[in-house]
Order: sequence, then C-alpha cells, then structure tokens
Amino acid sequence: VLVLAASGGGGLVAYADSQSDQPQGPKKKKVVVLGTGWGGTTFLRNLDSKLYDVQVISPRNYFAFTPLLPSVTCGTVEPRSVVEPIRRILEKKGGDFKFWEAECFKIDPAKKKIHCRSNAGTNFDGNGEFLVDYDYLVVAVGARSNTFNTPGVEENCHFLKEVEDAQKIRRSVMDCFEKASLPYLNEEERTKNLHFVIVGGGPTGVEFAAELHDFVTEDLSKLYPSVQHLVKISLIEAADHILTMFDKRITNFAEDKFGRNGIDVKTGYKVVKVAKDAITMQNPAAGDVAVPYGMAVWSTGIGTRPFIVDFMKQIGQANRRVLATDEWLRVRECDDVYAVGDCATINQRRVMEDISEIFRVADKDKSGTLTVKEIQDILEDIYVRYPQVKLYMKSKQMNGIADLIRTGNGDTEKESVELSIEEFKKALSLVDSQVKNLPATAQVAAQQGQYLAKCFNKMEYAEENPEGPIRIRGEGRHRFLPFRYRHLGQFAPLGGEQTAAQLPGDWVSIGHSSQWLWYSVYATKQISWRTRALVISDWGRRFIFGRDSSG
Ligand code: FAD
Ligand code: MG
Ligand code: MG
Ligand code: MG
Ligand code: MG
Repeated sequence: VLVLAASGGGGLVAYADSQSDQPQGPKKKKVVVLGTGWGGTTFLRNLDSKLYDVQVISPRNYFAFTPLLPSVTCGTVEPRSVVEPIRRILEKKGGDFKFWEAECFKIDPAKKKIHCRSNAGTNFDGNGEFLVDYDYLVVAVGARSNTFNTPGVEENCHFLKEVEDAQKIRRSVMDCFEKASLPYLNEEERTKNLHFVIVGGGPTGVEFAAELHDFVTEDLSKLYPSVQHLVKISLIEAADHILTMFDKRITNFAEDKFGRNGIDVKTGYKVVKVAKDAITMQNPAAGDVAVPYGMAVWSTGIGTRPFIVDFMKQIGQANRRVLATDEWLRVRECDDVYAVGDCATINQRRVMEDISEIFRVADKDKSGTLTVKEIQDILEDIYVRYPQVKLYMKSKQMNGIADLIRTGNGDTEKESVELSIEEFKKALSLVDSQVKNLPATAQVAAQQGQYLAKCFNKMEYAEENPEGPIRIRGEGRHRFLPFRYRHLGQFAPLGGEQTAAQLPGDWVSIGHSSQWLWYSVYATKQISWRTRALVISDWGRRFIFGRDSSG
C-alpha cells in the first residue's frame, strides 16, 4: 500500500508501508531485502516468513542462475531457462512478502530508511521515487563490472553479468558473422569483424572463450564456410597465467587446450584503451599494441556499486574498497544492517588483537601457562572464531599441536611443554597472515544467505540462549556462531565437453567425466523443477540439433 509522507526536502514522497493493511495482531519487525540474486534469494527461501513482515526490492523481478550465463551467450541454453520469477519463489513460500521492482539509490542508516526509484512507473511527483523504512536491512545487491577506468570500455565492450548481457553478446556474435559475409567487404575487413576479444582470464572469461570456440567450430563453421578460416578468438590477461584462482594443473591444462584449439591466449598484456575499431594493450616487452576487433567482452573483475560507496562514507568505511561486515554478517559500525554476497566482505577479526584474552580463557587452572591439554580443549572454539588458525594448523609448515608448541618455545627437547603468554604469542604470530577473503561466488553468497536466514529465524530464541565460541571482553556474548564457509569445489568448463573440477582437498579432475559431473551438479542446483526441466531439455536439444544461429 502506498501512502504519502512529507519528505525532508518539503516535497511529497511516496511511502511504501506494507503494514497499514494488517490492522490486528502485534506488529512484526520489518525486514527489507535489497537484491534478488544468489544472496537475497537464498535468504528469502530460507527465512521463516511467519516471523517477519518482509519487503523485497530489486530492479529485476527474477533470480538468474549466473553459472549458466556463459552458455546463454551462444544459445546452448535459452535465457528463459536460467531465470525464475521472484514472485513465484515468494508465492511458493507463502507468508508476508511484498516485492517492489525498483532500485535502491540511497540508504539512510540514521533514519532507518531507504530511498528507492522505480524505472517503470512514476508517482504524481513525477520521479517514481519512494521511501521504505526497515527494522532490519539485508543488503544483497551484488557488485558491478569493473572497468578500472579504462577509456572506451563502457562504450565499446560487452559485459557478462546479467541475462541481457548474454543475449546482447549472442546477437553481436551473429552480427559479426553476417557482417563478415557481406559481398562488398575486403579480406581485412572480414578478418576484423571475426576477431573476438575477451579481456580477463578469470573463470567467466575463460568459460566464454571456450563456449564461443565450440559454437564456432561445431555450428557456425558449417553455416559460414567462406569466412570460417578468418575467425580468431583472443583471450587477454594482465597476469602471467589464466585461471589463477585454480590449481596449477588446471591452469596448465586450460592454457594447453586453448593453444591447441587456436585460441590466442595473451598473458602479461594489459588493455589500456578500447576504441571503436581497435583495442590497445600494453606489454613490458612489446610496448603498445593496437589490434582491430569485431566484438569485445570485458570480464576483468568487479567493483562496489556507487550507492554502496555512499553508504560506506556515511558509516565511516570511506577508506575501504568493499563494504565490511563482521563474522556474523552485520555491517560494521551500523546497527541492524546486514550484507551478504558480492557487495560485502567479512572483516575477519585478528587473533593478535585478542591474544591475551584467548590465553586467559584457555588457562583454565590459572597457572599462567598453557598445557597441551589446555590448548587442545580450546582449539575447536578458536577454529570457529578465527578460521585462519585452522588454515594455519592444516598448512604444510604445521604438523599439529606439537609443532605449534615448538614454534612457541623453540625447544623440542624441553621436558615441560607448557607455553607462557609470550610463547603463546610467538606460536600464533604468523596465524593472521592466513586470513583469506572469501571469493565472489554464488556458492559464498548462497551460504551466507542461508546462514543469515537461520539467524533471523532464531533471533528471539537466541536472545535468551546465546551461543558462541570464545568470549572476548567488551564484545558481549554472541547470539550465534559466526558464519563458516564450506567450500564444495569449483568448476571451469573448458569447451569440447571437457571441464576442470577442483574439489575440496585439492582433488583435481579434468576431462569428459568432470563435464558430466558439471551437468549433474548444475541440473541439481536449479532453483525449481521448471528451470531444471528447461535447462536439461536445452542441453538435449543442443546435442541433437546443435545451437540456434538466428538473431
Ligand atoms: P547477485 O547475484 O549479482 O545479485 C544482486 C541482486 O541485486 C540482483 O538481483 C540485482 O538486480 C540487485 N540489485 C542491483 N542493484 C540494486 C539496487 N540498487 N537496489 C536493489 N537491488 C539491486 N559463481 C559460482 O559460484 N559459480 C559459477 O559458476 C559462477 N559463474 C558465474 C558466471 C557469470 C557470467 C557471472 C557474472 C557470475 C558467476 N558467478 C559464479 C558469480 C556469482 O554469480 C556471484 O558471485 C553471485 O551472483 C553473487 O550473489 P549476490 O547475491 O551477491 O549478487
Ligand atoms: Mg542477491
Ligand atoms: Mg545472481
Ligand atoms: Mg563477499
Ligand atoms: Mg594452565
């Protein structure tokens, strides 16, 4: 229900108040969720909808299964098959949900309000803006593509982030082939049109390059026989290797395979300018090189959305690059605002900040030293609160508690294996170097959304029954265990029905069998039976009839 309220500026602003139509009963707390991507949707699907009055705001009224976007670029999978309307997801859950198709452009944490703008309708004020207030705000707005201010990228390159991007890329690929086939072009112009450049050798860029190569060799070469020998795919990466976040074996395999496929992998090249007809890249040895191209896809990384940057300034996070939360996904220095997924990063507390406190808690007998037993007893709690300690203990240089003690007192022969506070500090002095930021993946966003929903579901119960590992003085007892990420593995589809899989425990598998694992995992992960059926039938259609090349 829209009611009108006077805005600070004197004008009238529409006010979205979803509670005015439910007069009886105690007022439920208002939860406002920004974003219907991986983080937001998973949060909503796991939230107990009876407990809250929930409003969802997103400029897209659907959830998109992003891991299949590269497949959409070449028509292996249809755009319809990778999206699910958010209203259908909410309707299935029942309960108090409202959805507004709009964009938040300002968060006002002092007044606990957000400012939104709809691009579809306008109110009588003429600008389509409205205010929503919240008791709890969940920010799950993802990130934007980052051009690193490289001139010409915005105007001349495609991004691959949204479903529309994938559709545009698909049309553009077909346009390039049709243009290159026109009768009045000379060889040079044909070659230019058929030069496909991908900037960024991360998982998305690599998967798109592989997908495009398959599309060209399996489908388009038959339809455009006169120009197919002119096609060139270049993958440009500023670092020394592609897929640097994967195991070395996968990187090597991918580089070799692309080499054999004729994909020109240019590592150590940095793109500095994109003009309408040519891309300029820089290499310490080669200097500036300008190459003509037909189509370019920019996939070099992500950045923070401008309204989040503004929000960060308001709450004293101006000097940070990414919005910081604590380990409970609460935005730092800001009450009742939570953030999940690509728009935020967990600011992991350092062991060294709390070392004396940890020592005090661990030293149960107040002897002033820690025995092996005392350390053992507290280690699990330390792992929960400081995951870097677990990484450190499991790292190559460490071999259990014995090594930890040795690092502390530097003496292997010593009879007494107890640690003083100084020795304890020394033992753990390198631990904080193991702090790792979680990757910007759907896996992380979804786990965070699920975790946060669980916290919201238990909020009342947890007030009375706090849990939590080591209690740090002044911090209070935590109501919940901190968020813990479980890495389930990662895929890199490399084309030709071959996929590289890196599973926990550094288990690497590359080839056709992993491709089948990929198919089955991605079919399973679909958000509904409807999209699952659509995706599987798209794959089947592609196997039998090939990809569609109209457009
Ligand atoms: P998103 O899923 O991006 O969702 C953000 C939501 O916020 C969207 O609904 C958006 O419309 C909305 N929004 C934006 N601005 C506003 C605003 N101002 N107000 C309100 N709402 C707003 N990860 C994997 O783990 N495996 C993969 O195989 C994989 N493949 C990928 C392939 C591609 C092509 C891409 C682009 C990404 C891929 N990822 C993959 C990464 C994964 O998609 C992201 O990490 C994940 O989407 C992050 O989830 P999120 O909820 O933070 O953001
Ligand atoms: Mg989201
Ligand atoms: Mg998404
Ligand atoms: Mg994140
Ligand atoms: Mg003791």
